[in-house]
This record gives sequence, structure tokens and C-alpha cells, in this order.
Amino acid sequence: MWFEIIRLINEKQRFILTAHTNPDLDALGSELALDEYLRSLGKEVTILNSDSAPRLLRFVDPERRLRTFSPDRDQGKIDRAQVIFVLDASGGWERVGRVGEVLAARANRSGKEVEVVCIDHHANPVGFADVAVVNSDAAATAELIFDLITQAGGALTPSIARWLYLAILTDTGSFRFPNTNLQTHRIAARLIEAGADSMQLYKQVYEQYPLGLVRLKGHVLNSLQAGAGGRMVWSALDQETLKAYGATPADLDGFPGLGMQIGGVRVSLLCVELPRGRVKVSLRSDGSLNVNGLAEKLGGGGHPSAAGATVEGDLAQVTAQLVAEIEALLKSF
Ligand code: AMP
Ligand code: MN
Ligand code: MN
Repeated sequence: MWFEIIRLINEKQRFILTAHTNPDLDALGSELALDEYLRSLGKEVTILNSDSAPRLLRFVDPERRLRTFSPDRDQGKIDRAQVIFVLDASGGWERVGRVGEVLAARANRSGKEVEVVCIDHHANPVGFADVAVVNSDAAATAELIFDLITQAGGALTPSIARWLYLAILTDTGSFRFPNTNLQTHRIAARLIEAGADSMQLYKQVYEQYPLGLVRLKGHVLNSLQAGAGGRMVWSALDQETLKAYGATPADLDGFPGLGMQIGGVRVSLLCVELPRGRVKVSLRSDGSLNVNGLAEKLGGGGHPSAAGATVEGDLAQVTAQLVAEIEALLKSF
């Protein structure tokens, strides 16, 4: 499975790593781990993302390896790159955002001499990549990066172990989501052996929130609405409320799943108002209803039990429309 990618790593010298917009810890951890591994082989590596890491996740990058794409500064690097790794984003170049546009132009140039490699755990067709390892049995892209590094004979350094562990911890909702399997736990054990301190990393991610954000969680819990005979719950957050709690949409990791704590709930929906008339839709399910299909209809994507999309429209209208759609879907159960 990794033969082709290991060959490229051995033969080429200049690499660019990228991931999806609004990167989460799976995207960032996978990038940082692969970056360290490639640099240990003497390769020239640049991580280029469309968006910076959310403030609560900046701790993962003490050496400031992550770069937010800047056209003037980065075009040269893009022109000279021999391999582009697209991580945690198999949905196409759009999923990579503005740097994706520039990378796509480079990849599509004739006589391009650049290889595009996609490694992901979202179940998408991967037409844009020359080489792809897409495995939706993996709970996180980081599991696949673990596989790549170990199959290539690379060392699991303590920092690589920490980045991959953080990615798996968060993409599995602390090993609770239905994507968690035996292999996930086996890999986690190997990462702990290699130096990932599971308790310290948990604390770093889940016990370092500003007070306002925890209070906002209280607000979301208080404002949950139930429908479909208790089989769905939803909540909507407007810009004003976010501001009042000192929060931004990037801080809300974990919020969409809050409603899943309630017995009998199959689907949980969170709609968050973004600037310029857009709404971020997040869907979670207990696995009995495939929310990925709903997100895809809105131009988004994800996994069967965790999916999302960003749409144009008014917060109340988008929310009401989705609630009606989910209620209709649940009726057919
Ligand atoms: P979120 O609701 O943002 O936590 O995202 C849940 C899942 O849906 C993640 O696996 C994301 O990668 C995926 N997802 C969220 N937004 C989008 C989008 N606009 N396009 C494709 N996938 C998305
Ligand atoms: Mn991700
Ligand atoms: Mn992921």
C-alpha cells in the first residue's frame, strides 16, 4: 500500500504538506509528524495551510513549522516542489482552500514534474491525486501516517508520537466515536510507548479552555431543542452570542456532539453563524443515520457519524430547513 509513496519519499527532495481548511488536530498532527519524519531524512519540507491553527491548538507547534499560505512569499516554494502531500482532505482541492487553488494550478501545469499524494480517512473518490491512500476504516489520518512512518522504517520519536496521539484522541472524541476500533487502540498503545503522555495530552486539549468557552458550552446545553420524538436535538449559535462569550467558530470543537449525551438521540445538529452571511453546519449521529449524505447535499462532507458543511444563508432559515429534513429522514426509520 505504501510502496509508491515510500519510493517518492526516497527519490524526491522538496515536499509541500497541506490539509483541509480550518485545520483540526488530525490535519495539524498528521502534517507535523510527517514533516518531522521527512526532515529526519534530510528532505526540504514546507507545511502550507490556508488557515492558521485555531488559538487553542497553537501549543502543537512550538517550533512554528506551520505556515499560513501567503501568495507572494510561498509561490516560489510551490513552483519548486516535487511532491505535494494532501492530508485529511480527499474531497478535492476546494477542501484545501486558497492554497489548494494554487497547488492545483501547479499540479495541472503541463510538464509539471510534481506528484500529488493524498492520504486520508474520509471516503471520497480521489481524482485529483497521482497516488492515494484513502482508508475509511482508519479512525484518523494520523493512523495512516503512523502506518507510513513505521512501514518505511522511520523512528517514532516522542514528538511524532505526541502529534499522532493528539490527532487520534481528538478525531475519535477520546476513543468514543464509532470510528474507534481495535487497531486504533493498538496504535495508541504504541504511541504511548513511544513517548505520548496520554493524561498530559488529554489535559492539554480538554482542560485548558478559557472560562468563557466553558460557559458557552453551558449556553449551548441550555438552548438545545429536541425534535422527532427525542431522536434529534439541535442548537443554533449567532455571532452576537459567540462574541458575548469571547469565542470564535474555530473554538467549538466538541460542541456539535454535546446533544449525543442524551439517551435516545440519534442525530445532533449545531448551526453556527459565520461572518458574511454564511452558516457552518455540524452533524453528529449515533451511527444509525448516515449524516454524511446530508452534509454532501449541502456541498460538505465527512464521515457517516460526523459530518459538516458551510452554506450561504440565514442562521434561522438554514437551521429550520435542516431540522425539517432530519425529522423527515428519522420518520422513515
Ligand atoms: P465538524 O462538524 O466541522 O467538526 O466536521 C465534522 C466532519 O465533517 C469532519 O470529518 C470534517 O472533515 C467534515 N467536514 C466538515 N465541514 C466540511 C466541509 N465543508 N466539507 C467537507 N467535509 C467537512
Ligand atoms: Mn480533519
Ligand atoms: Mn481526520
